[in-house]
Amino acid sequence: MQEKHSFTVAERFLRYVQIDTQSDPQSASIPSTEKQKNLSRLLADELKAIGIADAHLDEWGYVYATIPATTEKKIPVICFCSHVDTSPDCSGAGVKPLVHKNYDGRDIILPDDETQVITTKEHPYLLEKIGEDIITASGKTLLGADDKAGVAIIMDLANYLLQHPEVKHGTIKILFTPDEEIGRGVNKVNIKKLGADFGYTLDGGMRGSFTDETFSADGAVVTFQGISAHPGYAKDKLVNAVKVAGTFLDLLPKENFSPETTNGREGFVHPVHIDGIAETVKIEFIIRDFETGKLNNHRNHLEGFAKQAIKKYPGSSYTLEVKEQYRNMKEVLVNYPQVGDYVAEAMKRSSVKFRKESARGGTDGSRLSFIGLPCPDIFTGEMAFHGKHEYVSIQDMQKSVEVLINLVQVWEEKGQ
Ligand SMILES: [Zn+2]
Repeated sequence: MQEKHSFTVAERFLRYVQIDTQSDPQSASIPSTEKQKNLSRLLADELKAIGIADAHLDEWGYVYATIPATTEKKIPVICFCSHVDTSPDCSGAGVKPLVHKNYDGRDIILPDDETQVITTKEHPYLLEKIGEDIITASGKTLLGADDKAGVAIIMDLANYLLQHPEVKHGTIKILFTPDEEIGRGVNKVNIKKLGADFGYTLDGGMRGSFTDETFSADGAVVTFQGISAHPGYAKDKLVNAVKVAGTFLDLLPKENFSPETTNGREGFVHPVHIDGIAETVKIEFIIRDFETGKLNNHRNHLEGFAKQAIKKYPGSSYTLEVKEQYRNMKEVLVNYPQVGDYVAEAMKRSSVKFRKESARGGTDGSRLSFIGLPCPDIFTGEMAFHGKHEYVSIQDMQKSVEVLINLVQVWEEKGQ
Protein backbone atom coordinates (compact mmCIF):
# COMPACT_ATOMS: atom_id res chain seq x y z
CA MET A 1 0.00 0.00 0.00
CA GLN A 2 2.66 2.49 1.01
CA GLU A 3 4.80 1.56 -2.00
CA LYS A 4 2.11 2.93 -4.29
CA HIS A 5 1.76 6.18 -2.35
CA SER A 6 3.21 9.15 -4.17
CA PHE A 7 4.92 11.21 -1.55
CA THR A 8 4.33 14.97 -1.58
CA VAL A 9 7.09 15.67 0.93
CA ALA A 10 9.81 16.77 -1.53
CA GLU A 11 7.52 19.01 -3.56
CA ARG A 12 6.27 20.64 -0.35
CA PHE A 13 9.77 21.01 1.02
CA LEU A 14 11.04 22.78 -2.11
CA ARG A 15 8.21 25.31 -1.83
CA TYR A 16 8.42 25.88 1.93
CA VAL A 17 12.19 26.58 1.99
CA GLN A 18 11.73 29.48 -0.42
CA ILE A 19 9.68 31.34 2.18
CA ASP A 20 11.99 33.33 4.47
CA THR A 21 11.12 32.51 8.10
CA GLN A 22 14.26 33.56 9.96
CA SER A 23 13.64 34.30 13.65
CA ASP A 24 15.32 37.18 15.49
CA PRO A 25 16.67 36.93 19.05
CA GLN A 26 16.80 40.75 19.35
CA SER A 27 13.07 41.13 18.75
CA ALA A 28 10.63 41.24 21.66
CA SER A 29 7.52 40.60 19.57
CA ILE A 30 5.71 37.26 19.27
CA PRO A 31 6.50 35.69 16.92
CA SER A 32 9.89 37.42 16.80
CA THR A 33 9.48 38.08 13.06
CA GLU A 34 6.14 38.59 11.36
CA LYS A 35 7.37 36.84 8.19
CA GLN A 36 7.25 33.44 9.93
CA LYS A 37 3.48 33.73 9.64
CA ASN A 38 3.76 33.70 5.83
CA LEU A 39 4.66 30.02 5.97
CA SER A 40 2.37 29.24 8.92
CA ARG A 41 -0.62 30.81 7.14
CA LEU A 42 0.12 28.75 4.03
CA LEU A 43 0.34 25.57 6.13
CA ALA A 44 -3.01 26.23 7.80
CA ASP A 45 -4.57 26.86 4.36
CA GLU A 46 -3.07 23.70 2.89
CA LEU A 47 -4.27 21.63 5.85
CA LYS A 48 -7.77 22.99 5.33
CA ALA A 49 -7.57 22.25 1.62
CA ILE A 50 -6.80 18.58 2.30
CA GLY A 51 -9.83 18.35 4.56
CA ILE A 52 -8.71 19.25 8.09
CA ALA A 53 -11.54 21.51 9.14
CA ASP A 54 -10.11 22.97 12.36
CA ALA A 55 -6.67 23.91 11.01
CA HIS A 56 -5.83 27.49 12.00
CA LEU A 57 -3.06 29.98 12.72
CA ASP A 58 -3.33 31.72 16.08
CA GLU A 59 -2.30 35.28 16.96
CA TRP A 60 1.12 34.10 18.27
CA GLY A 61 2.04 32.34 15.05
CA TYR A 62 1.21 28.73 16.07
CA VAL A 63 -0.66 26.38 13.74
CA TYR A 64 -3.01 23.84 15.35
CA ALA A 65 -4.89 21.10 13.50
CA THR A 66 -6.66 17.82 14.25
CA ILE A 67 -6.77 14.68 12.13
CA PRO A 68 -9.86 12.87 13.42
CA ALA A 69 -9.57 9.25 14.59
CA THR A 70 -10.48 6.40 12.27
CA THR A 71 -10.73 3.87 15.11
CA GLU A 72 -13.34 3.23 17.77
CA LYS A 73 -10.68 2.32 20.31
CA LYS A 74 -9.90 4.74 23.11
CA ILE A 75 -6.23 5.46 22.56
CA PRO A 76 -3.92 8.32 23.51
CA VAL A 77 -3.95 11.45 21.37
CA ILE A 78 -0.60 11.86 19.61
CA CYS A 79 0.84 15.18 18.46
CA PHE A 80 3.43 15.74 15.73
CA CYS A 81 5.32 19.01 16.04
CA SER A 82 7.93 20.96 14.10
CA HIS A 83 9.11 24.55 13.89
CA VAL A 84 8.72 26.92 10.96
CA ASP A 85 11.56 29.33 11.78
CA THR A 86 15.15 29.09 10.57
CA SER A 87 18.33 29.96 12.42
CA PRO A 88 19.42 33.60 12.83
CA ASP A 89 23.02 32.38 12.27
CA CYS A 90 22.75 32.34 8.48
CA SER A 91 20.62 34.16 5.90
CA GLY A 92 17.31 32.51 4.99
CA ALA A 93 16.27 35.08 2.36
CA GLY A 94 16.17 34.07 -1.28
CA VAL A 95 16.84 30.38 -0.67
CA LYS A 96 17.35 28.56 -4.01
CA PRO A 97 17.00 24.83 -3.35
CA LEU A 98 18.88 22.53 -5.73
CA VAL A 99 18.13 18.85 -6.23
CA HIS A 100 21.17 16.65 -6.85
CA LYS A 101 19.50 13.60 -8.36
CA ASN A 102 21.06 10.17 -7.97
CA TYR A 103 23.91 11.54 -5.84
CA ASP A 104 27.28 10.13 -6.92
CA GLY A 105 29.30 10.36 -3.70
CA ARG A 106 31.44 13.32 -4.72
CA ASP A 107 31.87 16.62 -2.88
CA ILE A 108 29.06 19.04 -3.72
CA ILE A 109 30.13 22.49 -4.97
CA LEU A 110 27.45 25.11 -4.43
CA PRO A 111 27.10 27.12 -7.67
CA ASP A 112 26.33 30.61 -6.33
CA ASP A 113 29.53 30.62 -4.27
CA GLU A 114 32.00 28.00 -5.42
CA THR A 115 34.08 28.36 -2.27
CA GLN A 116 31.18 26.65 -0.51
CA VAL A 117 31.76 22.91 -0.85
CA ILE A 118 29.94 20.18 1.04
CA THR A 119 32.64 17.54 1.46
CA THR A 120 32.20 13.88 2.28
CA LYS A 121 35.18 14.26 4.62
CA GLU A 122 33.30 16.70 6.81
CA HIS A 123 29.95 15.02 6.19
CA PRO A 124 30.59 11.25 5.99
CA TYR A 125 26.83 10.61 6.23
CA LEU A 126 26.69 11.69 2.55
CA LEU A 127 28.48 8.45 1.65
CA GLU A 128 25.43 6.56 2.96
CA LYS A 129 23.31 8.64 0.57
CA ILE A 130 24.85 7.58 -2.75
CA GLY A 131 22.08 6.96 -5.26
CA GLU A 132 19.60 9.10 -3.33
CA ASP A 133 18.41 12.59 -4.27
CA ILE A 134 20.08 15.30 -2.18
CA ILE A 135 18.71 18.81 -1.76
CA THR A 136 21.11 21.67 -0.93
CA ALA A 137 20.97 25.46 -1.01
CA SER A 138 22.90 27.32 -3.72
CA GLY A 139 25.78 28.73 -1.62
CA LYS A 140 24.49 32.07 -0.38
CA THR A 141 21.97 31.00 2.26
CA LEU A 142 21.10 28.15 4.57
CA LEU A 143 18.66 25.58 3.19
CA GLY A 144 16.15 25.56 6.02
CA ALA A 145 15.82 21.77 6.20
CA ASP A 146 15.91 22.54 9.92
CA ASP A 147 13.03 22.34 10.29
CA LYS A 148 11.09 22.58 7.05
CA ALA A 149 11.95 18.92 6.48
CA GLY A 150 9.91 18.22 9.63
CA VAL A 151 7.12 20.52 8.49
CA ALA A 152 6.93 18.89 5.04
CA ILE A 153 6.98 15.38 6.57
CA ILE A 154 4.06 16.15 8.89
CA MET A 155 2.14 17.77 6.01
CA ASP A 156 2.68 14.69 3.84
CA LEU A 157 1.58 12.44 6.71
CA ALA A 158 -1.64 14.46 7.05
CA ASN A 159 -2.18 14.31 3.29
CA TYR A 160 -1.70 10.54 3.29
CA LEU A 161 -3.99 9.85 6.24
CA LEU A 162 -6.77 12.01 4.82
CA GLN A 163 -6.53 10.10 1.53
CA HIS A 164 -6.43 6.72 3.27
CA PRO A 165 -9.28 6.55 5.78
CA GLU A 166 -8.83 2.75 5.85
CA VAL A 167 -5.61 3.27 7.86
CA LYS A 168 -6.59 2.87 11.52
CA HIS A 169 -5.33 5.52 13.92
CA GLY A 170 -6.42 7.56 16.90
CA THR A 171 -6.85 11.34 17.05
CA ILE A 172 -3.73 13.07 15.78
CA LYS A 173 -2.80 16.66 16.53
CA ILE A 174 -0.50 18.80 14.42
CA LEU A 175 1.46 21.69 15.91
CA PHE A 176 3.75 24.08 14.03
CA THR A 177 5.67 26.49 16.26
CA PRO A 178 7.61 29.73 15.59
CA ASP A 179 10.87 30.86 17.22
CA GLU A 180 12.35 27.49 18.19
CA GLU A 181 15.81 28.59 17.08
CA ILE A 182 15.81 31.43 19.59
CA GLY A 183 14.58 29.22 22.43
CA ARG A 184 11.04 30.59 22.54
CA GLY A 185 9.24 27.91 20.57
CA VAL A 186 7.15 26.75 23.47
CA ASN A 187 6.44 30.10 25.15
CA LYS A 188 2.90 30.50 23.83
CA VAL A 189 1.86 26.90 23.25
CA ASN A 190 -1.59 26.25 24.64
CA ILE A 191 -1.19 22.68 25.90
CA LYS A 192 -4.80 22.45 27.01
CA LYS A 193 -6.14 23.55 23.66
CA LEU A 194 -3.73 21.17 21.91
CA GLY A 195 -5.22 18.32 23.92
CA ALA A 196 -2.57 15.68 23.19
CA ASP A 197 -1.25 12.97 25.52
CA PHE A 198 2.11 12.36 23.86
CA GLY A 199 4.08 14.20 21.22
CA TYR A 200 6.95 13.76 18.80
CA THR A 201 9.01 16.58 17.37
CA LEU A 202 10.20 15.98 13.80
CA ASP A 203 13.54 17.77 13.98
CA GLY A 204 16.20 15.06 14.05
CA GLY A 205 19.03 14.24 11.65
CA MET A 206 20.15 10.88 10.28
CA ARG A 207 17.73 8.24 9.10
CA GLY A 208 16.64 6.15 12.08
CA SER A 209 17.73 8.58 14.77
CA PHE A 210 15.49 8.88 17.78
CA THR A 211 16.33 11.24 20.64
CA ASP A 212 14.70 10.81 24.01
CA GLU A 213 17.40 12.46 26.05
CA THR A 214 18.65 16.05 26.06
CA PHE A 215 20.89 18.12 28.27
CA SER A 216 19.62 19.67 31.46
CA ALA A 217 20.45 23.34 31.29
CA ASP A 218 20.97 26.30 33.59
CA GLY A 219 22.11 29.81 32.86
CA ALA A 220 24.51 31.52 35.30
CA VAL A 221 25.64 35.11 35.68
CA VAL A 222 28.85 35.89 37.57
CA THR A 223 29.24 39.58 38.43
CA PHE A 224 32.50 41.01 39.73
CA GLN A 225 32.47 44.23 41.64
CA GLY A 226 35.65 46.33 41.86
CA ILE A 227 36.30 49.75 43.39
CA SER A 228 36.49 52.67 41.00
CA ALA A 229 38.79 55.64 41.32
CA HIS A 230 40.23 58.31 39.05
CA PRO A 231 43.16 56.54 37.40
CA GLY A 232 45.45 59.50 38.05
CA TYR A 233 44.88 59.23 41.78
CA ALA A 234 44.09 55.55 42.07
CA LYS A 235 47.11 54.28 43.98
CA ASP A 236 46.01 51.89 46.74
CA LYS A 237 42.37 52.65 45.96
CA LEU A 238 41.38 51.24 42.57
CA VAL A 239 40.36 47.59 42.26
CA ASN A 240 39.72 46.83 38.59
CA ALA A 241 36.85 44.40 37.99
CA VAL A 242 38.02 43.83 34.39
CA LYS A 243 41.25 42.33 35.77
CA VAL A 244 39.38 40.20 38.30
CA ALA A 245 37.23 38.87 35.47
CA GLY A 246 40.36 38.14 33.39
CA THR A 247 41.91 36.17 36.24
CA PHE A 248 38.67 34.30 36.79
CA LEU A 249 38.34 33.30 33.12
CA ASP A 250 41.95 32.19 33.08
CA LEU A 251 41.27 29.86 36.02
CA LEU A 252 38.69 27.90 34.00
CA PRO A 253 40.18 24.49 33.14
CA LYS A 254 41.75 24.27 29.67
CA GLU A 255 41.52 20.47 29.34
CA ASN A 256 37.95 19.75 30.39
CA PHE A 257 34.75 21.36 31.63
CA SER A 258 34.17 23.25 28.35
CA PRO A 259 32.24 22.54 25.12
CA GLU A 260 35.48 22.49 23.12
CA THR A 261 37.01 19.74 25.27
CA THR A 262 34.02 17.47 26.03
CA ASN A 263 31.68 15.14 24.18
CA GLY A 264 29.48 12.10 24.72
CA ARG A 265 27.87 12.29 28.14
CA GLU A 266 30.21 14.87 29.68
CA GLY A 267 28.82 18.19 30.86
CA PHE A 268 30.41 21.63 30.79
CA VAL A 269 30.23 25.32 31.64
CA HIS A 270 30.62 27.85 28.86
CA PRO A 271 31.06 31.64 29.06
CA VAL A 272 28.87 33.11 26.32
CA HIS A 273 28.88 36.84 26.99
CA ILE A 274 30.94 39.39 28.86
CA ASP A 275 30.15 42.99 29.48
CA GLY A 276 31.66 45.52 31.84
CA ILE A 277 33.78 48.45 32.96
CA ALA A 278 36.53 48.81 35.55
CA GLU A 279 33.95 49.04 38.31
CA THR A 280 31.85 46.01 37.46
CA VAL A 281 31.91 43.11 34.99
CA LYS A 282 29.16 40.67 34.21
CA ILE A 283 29.91 37.27 32.64
CA GLU A 284 27.10 35.05 31.41
CA PHE A 285 27.51 31.28 31.37
CA ILE A 286 25.54 28.32 30.21
CA ILE A 287 25.80 25.16 32.35
CA ARG A 288 24.98 21.78 30.78
CA ASP A 289 24.83 18.14 31.85
CA PHE A 290 22.68 15.09 31.17
CA GLU A 291 22.29 14.60 34.91
CA THR A 292 20.37 17.44 36.47
CA GLY A 293 22.00 16.71 39.83
CA LYS A 294 25.41 17.51 38.40
CA LEU A 295 24.43 21.04 37.38
CA ASN A 296 24.86 22.05 40.98
CA ASN A 297 28.39 20.58 41.10
CA HIS A 298 29.27 22.62 38.02
CA ARG A 299 27.84 25.71 39.64
CA ASN A 300 29.95 25.13 42.76
CA HIS A 301 33.02 24.53 40.65
CA LEU A 302 32.43 27.86 38.91
CA GLU A 303 31.94 29.60 42.24
CA GLY A 304 35.26 28.16 43.47
CA PHE A 305 37.06 29.95 40.62
CA ALA A 306 35.25 33.21 41.40
CA LYS A 307 36.38 32.94 45.04
CA GLN A 308 39.99 32.33 44.00
CA ALA A 309 39.89 35.30 41.64
CA ILE A 310 38.65 37.83 44.20
CA LYS A 311 41.23 36.60 46.70
CA LYS A 312 43.90 37.91 44.35
CA TYR A 313 42.24 41.35 44.29
CA PRO A 314 41.43 42.43 47.87
CA GLY A 315 38.40 44.70 47.94
CA SER A 316 36.70 42.99 45.01
CA SER A 317 33.61 40.85 45.39
CA TYR A 318 31.37 38.65 43.28
CA THR A 319 27.79 37.48 43.04
CA LEU A 320 26.58 34.35 41.28
CA GLU A 321 23.05 33.93 40.02
CA VAL A 322 21.70 30.72 38.47
CA LYS A 323 18.50 30.32 36.49
CA GLU A 324 16.93 27.09 35.26
CA GLN A 325 16.66 26.89 31.46
CA TYR A 326 15.38 23.39 30.60
CA ARG A 327 15.64 19.81 31.83
CA ASN A 328 16.55 16.43 30.33
CA MET A 329 13.32 15.05 28.82
CA LYS A 330 14.40 11.56 29.88
CA GLU A 331 13.31 12.39 33.43
CA VAL A 332 9.72 12.44 32.10
CA LEU A 333 9.99 9.89 29.28
CA VAL A 334 11.35 7.19 31.57
CA ASN A 335 7.78 6.87 32.86
CA TYR A 336 6.39 6.21 29.36
CA PRO A 337 8.63 3.61 27.70
CA GLN A 338 5.95 2.86 25.09
CA VAL A 339 6.54 6.26 23.45
CA GLY A 340 9.98 5.10 22.30
CA ASP A 341 9.14 1.40 21.96
CA TYR A 342 6.43 2.14 19.40
CA VAL A 343 8.86 4.23 17.34
CA ALA A 344 11.32 1.31 17.35
CA GLU A 345 8.51 -0.97 16.14
CA ALA A 346 7.42 1.52 13.44
CA MET A 347 11.02 1.80 12.19
CA LYS A 348 11.31 -1.97 12.08
CA ARG A 349 8.24 -2.12 9.85
CA SER A 350 9.83 0.50 7.57
CA SER A 351 13.16 -1.41 7.51
CA VAL A 352 14.90 1.52 9.19
CA LYS A 353 17.70 0.93 11.71
CA PHE A 354 16.67 2.46 15.03
CA ARG A 355 19.48 4.74 16.28
CA LYS A 356 18.91 5.97 19.82
CA GLU A 357 20.67 9.25 20.50
CA SER A 358 21.27 11.80 23.23
CA ALA A 359 21.16 15.43 22.17
CA ARG A 360 23.91 17.67 23.51
CA GLY A 361 21.42 20.50 23.47
CA GLY A 362 17.73 21.10 24.03
CA THR A 363 14.70 20.77 21.80
CA ASP A 364 11.18 22.14 21.91
CA GLY A 365 10.43 18.64 23.19
CA SER A 366 12.56 19.10 26.30
CA ARG A 367 10.30 21.90 27.45
CA LEU A 368 7.09 20.32 26.16
CA SER A 369 7.92 17.17 28.12
CA PHE A 370 7.85 19.15 31.34
CA ILE A 371 4.59 20.99 30.67
CA GLY A 372 2.51 17.91 30.09
CA LEU A 373 3.47 16.60 26.66
CA PRO A 374 6.17 13.91 26.83
CA CYS A 375 7.86 14.55 23.51
CA PRO A 376 10.98 12.83 22.06
CA ASP A 377 12.41 13.60 18.62
CA ILE A 378 12.31 11.60 15.37
CA PHE A 379 14.64 11.91 12.33
CA THR A 380 13.83 13.99 9.26
CA GLY A 381 17.11 13.65 7.33
CA GLU A 382 18.10 17.29 7.91
CA MET A 383 21.90 17.55 8.21
CA ALA A 384 24.57 20.22 8.79
CA PHE A 385 21.95 22.68 9.93
CA HIS A 386 22.34 26.41 10.62
CA GLY A 387 24.77 26.96 7.74
CA LYS A 388 25.24 27.09 4.00
CA HIS A 389 26.23 23.40 3.85
CA GLU A 390 22.87 22.20 5.05
CA TYR A 391 21.44 19.28 3.07
CA VAL A 392 18.69 16.69 3.17
CA SER A 393 17.97 13.48 1.27
CA ILE A 394 14.54 13.20 -0.32
CA GLN A 395 14.51 9.47 0.44
CA ASP A 396 15.22 10.17 4.13
CA MET A 397 12.23 12.52 4.29
CA GLN A 398 10.05 9.92 2.57
CA LYS A 399 11.23 7.25 5.03
CA SER A 400 10.30 9.54 7.89
CA VAL A 401 6.77 9.91 6.49
CA GLU A 402 6.56 6.13 6.18
CA VAL A 403 7.73 5.65 9.77
CA LEU A 404 5.03 8.05 10.99
CA ILE A 405 2.35 6.22 9.00
CA ASN A 406 3.46 3.00 10.73
CA LEU A 407 3.77 4.73 14.10
CA VAL A 408 0.15 5.91 14.25
CA GLN A 409 -0.94 2.38 13.40
CA VAL A 410 1.25 0.85 16.10
CA TRP A 411 -0.39 3.16 18.65
CA GLU A 412 -3.80 2.03 17.38
CA GLU A 413 -2.95 -1.68 17.52
CA LYS A 414 -1.67 -1.38 21.10
CA GLY A 415 -4.84 0.34 22.25
CA GLN A 416 -7.93 -1.42 23.57
ZN1 LIG B 1 15.34 22.53 14.45
